[in-house]
Amino acid sequence: MTRVAIGIDLGGTDIKAGLVDENGTLIERFKKSTEGHLGGRKVVDRIGDLIEEILKSDAMKGRENDLQGVGMGSPGLIDHAKGAITRPVNIPDWDYWISVHDIFKERFGLTTWVDNDANVGALGEALYGKGKGKKVVLVLTLGTGVGGGVVADGEVFNGARGFAGELGHIMVNPSGYPCGCGNEGCLETYASATAIARYATDRVRVEHEPTLLREMAKQNGGVITSKMVHEAAVKGDGVALRVVERAGRGLGIGISSLIVSFNPEIICVGGGASNMGDMLFDFAREEMARRVFFHSHFQTPLVQAQLGEEAGTVGAAGMALQKSLAKAAG
Ligand SMILES: [Zn+2]
Repeated sequence: MTRVAIGIDLGGTDIKAGLVDENGTLIERFKKSTEGHLGGRKVVDRIGDLIEEILKSDAMKGRENDLQGVGMGSPGLIDHAKGAITRPVNIPDWDYWISVHDIFKERFGLTTWVDNDANVGALGEALYGKGKGKKVVLVLTLGTGVGGGVVADGEVFNGARGFAGELGHIMVNPSGYPCGCGNEGCLETYASATAIARYATDRVRVEHEPTLLREMAKQNGGVITSKMVHEAAVKGDGVALRVVERAGRGLGIGISSLIVSFNPEIICVGGGASNMGDMLFDFAREEMARRVFFHSHFQTPLVQAQLGEEAGTVGAAGMALQKSLAKAAG
């Protein structure tokens, strides 16, 4: 028998889901719009409807007895013990705890495990992506913000109250740009797609040298995106390259602190901005080599994550498969 679980990735726009087996294979994917404006309780009902759809799907046929439960990644605050969620960003009217564990237990008789979406994505990459088989895996996702997670021996490190792994808020520069978290100069203010776009916008305003970014912005209503920075840098644009350098060095400085804290076996970087690849990573690697005292004895590989968009769904299911085993063992 091959054990399977349902993975749910709750986002602001869509609820993504999938039936996943213990090898990390996404057997079939499912999707529904979140409709966050309806409020928390209605969103949870929509997640329930999606689970029902999966249970009745052809993909599920013959696998009913192998189903171990539901894993879910969600933004907001998580009560791991109760399988409850509150205050997910982008969903107003959800400022109270809802136990999805209790609701889905009653509706389907299935056990649901919940964790923070960034942690669940990190677990997916660690179990089934580039981190597979590695002892300690750090995952960073460079998106609108910088998400992350620490996975040790195949399990997410959650800390005392579940707030560990907020790797985007490692400090890179104590007098840097303000961060959404209230601190200043966090990794997120350097390496997120938002930070890259904002810094590029600033540079284009003050630099006098010609830059492709100025032309690209003109054709896009004055807005510069991190993808444009990537495109311009590939063409050798000086201003764009300096923007990439700032992001890469910031990333490397942040990672250096993480390396001396966790001694990871590998660091996987995903999210849109990670598509810059070595152009971005080589600056980070330079900072790591310069700052980590044991680098000459042990070099931590920095690689682009493998799972992409699916990391959340696959990781959520992976969490359920793992927790159900632990439960069965006693
Ligand atoms: Zn921060």
